[in-house]
Amino acid sequence: MARIVDLLGAHRPGARPRGTPTLSFEFFPPADDDADRRLQQTLDELGVLAPSFVSVTCGVGGDGHDRTRSIVAEICGGRPVPVMAHVTCVGHTRSDIAALLDDYAALGVGNILALAGDPPDGSAISGDFRYAAELVQVVRDHPAGFSVGVAAHPEVHPRSADRASDRRHLAAKLGAADFAVTQFFFDAEDYTRLGNELADLGCHQPVIPGVMPVIWPRSVRRYAAMNGTTVPEALFDRLDALAGDDRVAAAADAAAELARDLLAAGAPGIHLYTLNRSEASIRIAELLDL
Ligand code: FAD
Repeated sequence: MARIVDLLGAHRPGARPRGTPTLSFEFFPPADDDADRRLQQTLDELGVLAPSFVSVTCGVGGDGHDRTRSIVAEICGGRPVPVMAHVTCVGHTRSDIAALLDDYAALGVGNILALAGDPPDGSAISGDFRYAAELVQVVRDHPAGFSVGVAAHPEVHPRSADRASDRRHLAAKLGAADFAVTQFFFDAEDYTRLGNELADLGCHQPVIPGVMPVIWPRSVRRYAAMNGTTVPEALFDRLDALAGDDRVAAAADAAAELARDLLAAGAPGIHLYTLNRSEASIRIAELLDL
């Protein structure tokens, strides 16, 4: 079971990368049979690129973990690629999480992205966990020896009281984990600043930037509003005016340009938010020669 921490080696933010940058893809569990067929096709098409790892998100709500587990099991059963399962802890008990981790270990999953998740529709936080850092500890203590990732928000998490406390909590969480993957953002300067702020707090763990090709501007705008991501209006206006293959190509070109800047700034790899589509990710990988 390949561990992402081993793939990342000695990379750290702000330093020049040593070794080959990782290329990874994020997928979400499909909502219906058509979406499942589309995902299988996407996995086939992106599998040809031999990604460093793939990750599967975890929806909020009662069956969120089950739907993720079922896609993860399918990938582990038939595809030669390391998998990272997203696990959210808010709303869950310690025994739920322990059982899920046992299950992932039995499937041969080597990597867990330990997340708080969000309580549904602004309801109060319930269950045995409040912050992702508590889940990091539980994953760390599991005998499977998972490699543990956490979420980072270059533009600061929307629930954070201020930038300084956001960075302090992130540095503590990341210090106990192996690496972070970021929320999507559009200005490479945000990544460099995050790396510098973590380094100032003595945290030098690798931070893999998450890059979103804007193939669906309206949806991405909505996600950005929820995440506190700043939208570059000129790019979005340009993509809004395009359609079909032209839009996908332009979105991929813009994402590749950002990814190139991030790699030049020392990013250890690029994590692509695929939206379960392959075309943009293939073009980005070609443009970056990854
Ligand atoms: P935390 O690290 O717990 O942080 C949440 C907030 O609490 C922050 O403001 C932080 O500063 C603050 N905080 C942390 N510790 C403390 C403390 N000790 N005291 C006071 N404040 C504290 N969501 C999903 O539901 N499913 C997914 O699959 C998913 N995948 C994601 C993948 C990536 C790469 C990213 C970046 C996000 C993902 N999310 C996902 C979203 C994430 O669950 C939400 O952003 C959630 O609101 C916060 O999760 P977190 O793990 O960053 O939380």
